[in-house]
Order: sequence, then C-alpha cells, then structure tokens
Amino acid sequence: MRMAAHCFSLGSGERGQTPPPSLYDGQAGDSGREMLTTNPFDDDKLKEECGIFGIWGADDAASFVALGLHALQHRGQEAAGITSFDGKHFHSHRALGQVAGNFDNDQVISRLPGQVAIGHVRYSTAGGAGIRNAQPLFAELNDGGFAIAQNGNLSNAMKLRRTLSRRGAIFQSTSDLEVVIHLVATSQQSAPLDRLIDALKQVEGAYSLVVLTEEGLIACRDPLGIRPLVMGRLGHSTIFASESVALDVIGAKFVREVEPGEVILVNHDGLRSFRPFAKASPRPCIFEHVYFSRPDSIIEGSSVYEVRKNIGAVLAREAPVAADYVVPVPDSGVPAALGFSQESGIPFELGIIRSHYVGRTFIQPSQDVRHLGVKLKHNANAMLIAGKRIVLIDDSIVRGTTSVKIVQMMRDAGAKEVHMRIASPPTRHSCFYGVDTPERAKLLAAQMDVEAMRDFINADSLAFISIDGLYQALGDSRDPASPQRCDACFTGDYPTVLTDAGPGARDSGSLSLVASR
Ligand code: SF4
Repeated sequence: MRMAAHCFSLGSGERGQTPPPSLYDGQAGDSGREMLTTNPFDDDKLKEECGIFGIWGADDAASFVALGLHALQHRGQEAAGITSFDGKHFHSHRALGQVAGNFDNDQVISRLPGQVAIGHVRYSTAGGAGIRNAQPLFAELNDGGFAIAQNGNLSNAMKLRRTLSRRGAIFQSTSDLEVVIHLVATSQQSAPLDRLIDALKQVEGAYSLVVLTEEGLIACRDPLGIRPLVMGRLGHSTIFASESVALDVIGAKFVREVEPGEVILVNHDGLRSFRPFAKASPRPCIFEHVYFSRPDSIIEGSSVYEVRKNIGAVLAREAPVAADYVVPVPDSGVPAALGFSQESGIPFELGIIRSHYVGRTFIQPSQDVRHLGVKLKHNANAMLIAGKRIVLIDDSIVRGTTSVKIVQMMRDAGAKEVHMRIASPPTRHSCFYGVDTPERAKLLAAQMDVEAMRDFINADSLAFISIDGLYQALGDSRDPASPQRCDACFTGDYPTVLTDAGPGARDSGSLSLVASR
C-alpha cells in the first residue's frame, strides 16, 4: 500500500474532550414551536446554489423545462421558475419551494405557452431572500423582453451594483444577476446578443446562463467554465442544462458540453456559436465531481459515479485502516465507499439506513420527543454495527456538526472503533462561485488541524484524500503552477479576481451570499 506524500491522515488518539453538539438543531418555526431539521446529515454540506435548463423548438416547451428542473432539483430546493416565449409574449411563473408542487400542475403549465422556455431551481439559506430573487429574472428592455437564469456567482457584482446605483439604477432584488440585466439595458450595442456579450465582458466570476430574448435562446458559460452546462438534442429541439441527467429524463441525447467562454444562439436560423472572450485556461469546479452533481451525470466526459468510486479507491490507498466494514454516509458517500471497499477488500455494508419518507423539516409536537428527531431520516443498523470496527465514508466535512452526530450514532450502536475517511481534501476556504459556503470562521478545517478535527468529531482516526489524490481519481495530475480545475475551497487558489472580497478579506462575502443570509 502506498501512502501519498500529501495524505492528511492521523491514527488513533485520545477520545475528544469537546462535548458533541446537541443531536438536533432547533430553530423557531412560524408556529413558535421548534423547527427541527430532519436532514442532519445533509444540512452540513456545501450547497450548490442553482440549476438551469432551457429548450428551443418544442411544443409545450415549459413541460420539458419542468421535467428537466425536476432532475436538477438537488441543485436547489428553495425556489423554482420558468419563463416561456410564444413568439409574441413572454410568460413567467416563479414560486418558492420545489418543482413538484409548483410545476406539476396543468393549469400552471398551460399559462406558459410557447416553443421556447428557460427554467431555474435556486437554493438560498434563508426564506428572507424570498420570491424576488427567484429566477428567471425578467425585464422589458428597449428592444423587447429579456429573461435570464444563472448558475454561478459574480465576484464583482457588489462593485458593479454600487456604480450602477450611483447612476440611478433601481434594483428590485439582491441577485447579482440583476446587475447583468442593468448592464445589458445600458449597453450601447444594438442586437440583444451583442448587448449581453458587452455586459458579460464587465463581470468577473462564475456563470452559466440561459437567456431568452426575442432574437432567440442564448446559452453561455464563463471563460473559465467554472460552472457546468451541457447541450442536448431531442428531435429538432436544442436543450441546455446544468447536468446531463436533465437530458436523460426528457429522452434527449447528450451532444456536448458548452465550452468555457462559448456563447450559443439558437433561433429559426439554426445554431450559432461565438467565442467573444479572451481565451483562458479552463478551471471547472472540482467539487461537482465530489458532491454537487448527480452520480448518473457525465461531466468532462467522465461518469460522476465512476469518478466517485475512483476517489474511494485512492482514499483507501492513501489512508488504509484495519476494519470490519466500510459504511457510507448516505446518500452521497455511497460511490466513494464502494470504491474504498473494492480497493481495500473490506466488506461494504449499509450501517446507516435512510428513510425516504421524511420531509426537509418537521415541527416537533412536544419538547419531550424533540431529541428523537435526528433518527427520523437516518438510523444506525445496530445489529450490524455492534462490536465492529467501522470505516465511515463521507464526501466532505464542512462545519463538522454532521460528523460528530454520525460518529456518535455509530458509538451508540455499539461500534468498537469508528474511523472516518473523507472523499475530498479539508474544506478550508469559502466558495465565491455559486456554492453556499459558511463563512470561513465556521469551516472546521479552517480552524483546526486534522488531529484536532479527529478529536472534535470523536473518531478513532480521520483522514482526507489529498488534493493530488483527487486529481488522480479524475485521471489527471495537478499542475500547481496552473491547476486544471477550480479547487479553491481546498487550496485557496482562486481562479478569478475577487473584487468584492477586497484585498486581505478574501472570505468575507459576495453579493448572493450576503443576500442569502
Ligand atoms: S471554490 Fe470549491 S466549490 Fe467553489 S467553484 Fe471552486 S472547487 Fe467548486
């Protein structure tokens, strides 16, 4: 077995002295009773903030968008929206909540006629962001309607917004995308596509966009390709989506990824591709492979599922441990756990069982039973765990609160030893590119070394895959002078200027993150 030079691995040590946090995260609900999270394992994750979908040339285009958004629901559950164009008028419906419940209604879809439509799912950390930030955003511009939906985040949006406000621009939302609309509106170019390109040349950061204008459907990806965007075909229809899985669900064929820096216009004249930006080395988000994307999606030509298994195998080589069972933290830890098991020869077992019938939150009727809520969604498979040495596989540690709960759950079930292996390097830096990250002070790995983290979560050992190991799992070798991907949340090597964060305040915030607090 080979131990990589940069493997963050530690052996057994003293049991942690820090008392584990409460097994529930109570917060006041509308009723005044405690709102209990029933997703204790999912709530301590980085959250992808958005998913986008667009289609040109299909009868009932909005129906396809609704299905596509449903497949992208994991990228945002707080709001959803669709805007269609029937050749004369734009029609829009945006709502808080998930796609199902808002767009599985014939009456809603019938109010979104047309053969072209775009849609969006959004994540935000607080209901306060509300409907005004739900996308697609729409504006009636000088040359007609303009609807836009984004996955990503601009790192100079606050600066641009201040400048625009001083010139008299009025903002109705706190979305950085509204900045783009104002830049389009005030562009001196004439055609809608040229006005959009003119606007995008003034922004920094990460964006994958679908845009609906009277000129046609436009899709584009920022010059570094930080956020994903793929193109597909269904008959004569052209589709754009954040992930290939959204093509699968509507029966469309994957054509290719939209290239970093590429702008594509689809209309009655066909499909035209433009490269209006200065050429740059792509830096797609590496975390898409680790956690954000669905395992049945294909990114950069690779199956997300297979890459996650590779990550588990590399992790097993970098941080081997003697154990009886490999246990995934459901559901995101499953592929890496399979890879770890196959590489190490340690049997894979489901030591934590997930209920699929529990909603996101649950109002506890009584103080007396509130502490039981943590088991509503996940429960230890106690007969399996008792007396055994367990390797728990999770995709990441963010605040660490989840890891404390899981390790404690294994100990309560009688585990003899609990070893934790993490399928990503320590998350030490905030993301400014469309992923909801806690401020840096709340990232466990930004505050502690690995031994202190092991102590905090009360594990017998803790190890993370190295950054080089992660690239290896992708079939690559990281070039430290010019990394092939964005890996800033692990390395602090941000691929763009962070204008809004300012010098010396890199992790202080960005417009959409500020907006969502
Ligand atoms: S900072 Fe991390 S999560 Fe954000 S784009 Fe880069 S790799 Fe992805």
